[in-house]
This record gives sequence, C-alpha cells and structure tokens, in this order.
Amino acid sequence: MSDAASVTRFPGPEHDHDFCVEKALQNAVNICRQRGLRFTAQRRRILELVWSSHKPVGAYDILELLARDGNSTAPPTVYRALEFLINANLVHRLDSLNAFVGCPEPRTPHAGQFLICSQCRSVVELNEPDISDVVRQKADSLGFSASRLTLEIQGLCQLCQAQMRAE
Ligand SMILES: [Zn+2]
Ligand SMILES: [Zn+2]
Ligand SMILES: [Zn+2]
Repeated sequence: MSDAASVTRFPGPEHDHDFCVEKALQNAVNICRQRGLRFTAQRRRILELVWSSHKPVGAYDILELLARDGNSTAPPTVYRALEFLINANLVHRLDSLNAFVGCPEPRTPHAGQFLICSQCRSVVELNEPDISDVVRQKADSLGFSASRLTLEIQGLCQLCQAQMRAE
C-alpha cells in the first residue's frame, strides 16, 4: 500500500497499527531534529498516546492514560505538550470533538480536512491543499481574511455503513 492510500483510506481493524505509530514517532524525531525542537520523553509519550488509535483522544483521556503508566501529570503540562505537538504539525486539534488526532503527513504545515465517523469516531485526514485554496480565494473575494481553514466533516465510514446494512 502506498503512503497516499494509507492516508485516504479508513484503516480497518486488521491494519498494522504498530506501523502507524512507529512512522509517526519517526516523523516526529526527524521534524524536531530539522527544526531544532526538543522531543522530550514526555512529548514522545503524549504523541504515542494521541496515536493509540485513529480515534481522536481528549486531554483528559491522555491524563488518565499517563496516570495508568504511573506518571501522574498536571493538566497544564499535558496541554503544553499538546500545544508543542500542534505547533510542530504533529498533531491536529478537532474543535468539534474537543480532541486531538495525530497527523500522518506532518512534513508541511497544512489546515487539513477531516472525515469523522460519527459511529466509531475514526478519523481520516484528507490533506488536499486545493480545498483550502478554494476556501481562501472565496473568502478573499468577500474581503474576509481566513485564519483557520481546518474542515471537520461528519459522516459514516465504510465499515460502519457495512455494519448498519448487516443489522
Ligand atoms: Zn493505524
Ligand atoms: Zn495533518
Ligand atoms: Zn465508523
């Protein structure tokens, strides 16, 4: 499977998620090295927790998972680490869910469009700069200066549609 296919397709339960996590951590190491950012053990652990699955996780889920590790952490520490990961383009914040999801293609900064399954909460990122360009142009033509172009699209993934048909 090519890189493009892995980001445009909803990951089924049979996919090798360890590979996704490994790739995300490797991307993070490379990006932080290139930009001279410190990828501390805590930031790494929090990125790993965001990548627990393809479902977005909330800050409180992360706190709970850290506590389970035996590392009780104060909420501001987790928020700061998430902010770092967002600024490094490694993680996206989904406002509609008040939750965070790992970016599979973090090399270039982008707004991202997210397909969010309302049944299983899986998220797939469409990284289509054309969509952002159209929105920016239309906004410009109205004299509107767009600052956040992230799109959060709700719907049902293929697996959930198949499940519903089977019921
Ligand atoms: Zn995966
Ligand atoms: Zn992204
Ligand atoms: Zn689904």
